[in-house]
Amino acid sequence: CGIVGYVGGQSALDVVLAGLKRLEYRGYDSAGVAVLADGGLAAAKKAGKLANLEKELADRPLPAGATGIGHTRWATHGGPTDENAHPHLDNAGRVSVVHNGIIENFAGLRAELTDRGHELASETDTEVVAHLLAEAYSSCGELAEAMRQVCRRLEGAFTLVAVHADEPDVVVGARRNSPLVVGVGDGEAFLASDVAAFIAHTREAVELGQDQVVELRRESVTVTDFDGAPAEVREYHVDWDASA
Ligand code: GLU
Repeated sequence: CGIVGYVGGQSALDVVLAGLKRLEYRGYDSAGVAVLADGGLAAAKKAGKLANLEKELADRPLPAGATGIGHTRWATHGGPTDENAHPHLDNAGRVSVVHNGIIENFAGLRAELTDRGHELASETDTEVVAHLLAEAYSSCGELAEAMRQVCRRLEGAFTLVAVHADEPDVVVGARRNSPLVVGVGDGEAFLASDVAAFIAHTREAVELGQDQVVELRRESVTVTDFDGAPAEVREYHVDWDASA
């Protein structure tokens, strides 16, 4: 339902949680976050309100990191449980993904992954993406390229945002028939399903087109289509009143 991603000089967890709060008005049934820190990936997710997630984070704090993603979920596949909440991880715990929308062909992909020895931990359509990204990454070694390869296999409507522990300064996003906006700051960058998530930090935005993948770093925003060709994007200034 709501998605936030961040890379920059601030605490990613603080930025992502504040962004998720700005998206709360859309409604959701669970929430979760993942941060890249100390060469690894750490995640927390909880059914219920953001307050439940914050309590979980108070009880079991995540290490501080400068790259992170977060999600508020409106369940479509699998009930609103802790296990089905996003982010979803691959079996090695190196890739983490959040998703808005529906992966229509997830059942076939799930069967294929299970045949190849993957163990899926949730009932969601989303989790297949984490496993597919891990496989693609192990052959191509680049998260943005892995995302392009996976997106070419997906049917349905989706906004996807992912991080990989081997690329601690990168957040990758993709969209098809579901919104995704980039916020460009000074030495930091944001990804969100809605500009409301980041206008407290920057009003310089880039709107992704359909079937595009973005690689976000502190100082760069690189957008391609699903085949890797450089893509046209629309840059704009968000001039509406944040407090409205
Ligand atoms: N289809 C996904 C799920 O049920 C994503 C739902 C959403 O957009 O929040 O987990």
